[in-house]
This record gives sequence, C-alpha cells and structure tokens, in this order.
Amino acid sequence: KGAKNAVKDLSTGIHRGELQNKKVTAAVIDATFTVEDAEIFVVMGLSGSGKSTLLRMLNGLLPPTDGSIRIGDAELGDLKGKALRELRQQRLSMVFQHFALLPHRSVLDNVAFGLEIRGLTKEERREKAREAVEMVGLSGWEDKLPAQLSGGMQQRVGLARALAADTDILLMDEAFSALDPLIRQEMQDQLLELQKSLGKTIVFITHDLNEAMKIGDRIAIMRDGRVIQIGTAEDILLRPADEYVSEFIADVDRSRVLTAESIMEPAKLADTGEFATVGAD
Ligand code: ADP
Repeated sequence: KGAKNAVKDLSTGIHRGELQNKKVTAAVIDATFTVEDAEIFVVMGLSGSGKSTLLRMLNGLLPPTDGSIRIGDAELGDLKGKALRELRQQRLSMVFQHFALLPHRSVLDNVAFGLEIRGLTKEERREKAREAVEMVGLSGWEDKLPAQLSGGMQQRVGLARALAADTDILLMDEAFSALDPLIRQEMQDQLLELQKSLGKTIVFITHDLNEAMKIGDRIAIMRDGRVIQIGTAEDILLRPADEYVSEFIADVDRSRVLTAESIMEPAKLADTGEFATVGAD
C-alpha cells in the first residue's frame, strides 16, 4: 500500500506512493473492520474505490503489503501453500458477477465442481450438489447446460456452487450486478432467506447503495481506498460521516429503510465480535 507516502492524485483519484523505491498504486489504503459471525457485511463504493482488491485480500488471493487479515484465529499472512489452501477451502467461497460457469458441463456438474478436492466420493459430491441446487430453487434443471438458463438462473447456479462447498463464509463480488432489476431483487430476497436459514457470514460487494441498504446488516462505504463509514442503513442515513456520504445517500428511498421509530431512536451500532479483521495503518 505504501500508505505513509501515499498522496492523492486529484486528477485520477488514484493513490500513489513510494514503497522501497518502487512506484506503487495503492488500491486499499485504510480498511479496518471486523465482520461478525452470520452477518451480511456489505462493502459499498464507486467503481475503482478498492472493493474488489479488498475482497481478494480477504480471500487470501492477494497478500496486503501492510496490516493483517484474520479469519477466526488464523492470521492469513502466517499461512502459506497447503495451509492457506485448506483454510480457503474449509471456510471461504466466492460468488462472482459473471457466474464463472463451465459452459460444457451440466448444472449439477457445475455445482459439484470444486468438491473433488474435499475427498468426497462421486455420489457424495452429487448429493451435496443436488441439495444446493434445491436450496436455490433449481430442482429439475440439474441436467441442463448453462447456456439453456437465463442470467438469473445462471447466477443461482453460481450461488449453489458456493453453498455446496459448505463453507461458513461467502464472499460475493458484485454478484447480482449483471442481472435485470426484477431478477436482481428476487436474488436479493433469496439471499436474505438463505442467510436466515443457513446463518452464513457474507461479505457482499456492490456499487449500488439501494442494494447495500436492502441486504446489509452493516455497510462499509469505501472511497478512494479508504473505508470512510461503517454502520447500519439507519446509521448511514441518519448520521452520514461527511459531505461525500451525504451526497451519496441523497437519492436513496428513505421510506424503505427508515421507520418513524428508527428516526426517533436510531439503531445502535452492533457490538463487534471477533471474526475477520482487515487492518491497515
Ligand atoms: P472496485 O472493485 O471498487 O471497482 P478495485 O479494487 O478493482 O475497485 O480497484 C481499486 C483501484 O486499484 C483502482 O484505481 C484500480 O484501477 C486499481 N487496480 C486494481 N487492480 C489493479 C492491478 N492489478 N494493477 C494496478 N492497479 C489496479
């Protein structure tokens, strides 16, 4: 990150600094938060604000140059090779915007894909995949190819694959952003239902504030590589951290988030538990 020497290039909004005499571009400069167990934690910000980079760091794909990331008791930076792969397999699943489905494999095979490395028999893999297909409402479509499915259904397959992996944490990167508005809302509703029944811990990235407000237990707002506010939808609407956030929330349909009661007595920030911490000075 080179945070110490980072200066903001106002023309591009990109942070640059000198780190060990190398020119670096800092994508994430300050992001400190704890995601609680079974929480939907939304990271929201404009394109280029650092959300995907942050998620790749949480997923152990990109080691931060400074700061630390903990998944439960494990410090990601301390894990290498097999140990890192095992932690990622056991605890983390990704859901991508463009589904990342294999075009020549059936729905069921796509969902079962990735389970091979977990030492399950073929029948166990198919059984787990069938359960996940049912969870996302795609029973009966197991033998179809991705191209025979609508975009919304393909995204359900992507979600089913992450559910089949049976990890407690889902990392979702603009997972619904490619979908039509109505289908997108259906997927948001389904995610909330799945979350209620399965109790997954979800880190969900979006550039859509309405989506963030609808599904997030808490929302972190990123700007130019920094988390500038963390709070519930009410917190953010009632007490925006600065002018930037105020402007951001100007167009939000407040009636969907705020009740008369919450305006009188705003919800308090939830106590932070120990789960995953991303820190940077
Ligand atoms: P977001 O997901 O919010 O759109 P990103 O994390 O993709 O933001 O990007 C944050 C910043 O880092 C952007 O300015 C982007 O151009 C830059 N960036 C992302 N990935 C790379 C990379 N591999 N090399 C150089 N710059 C990158």
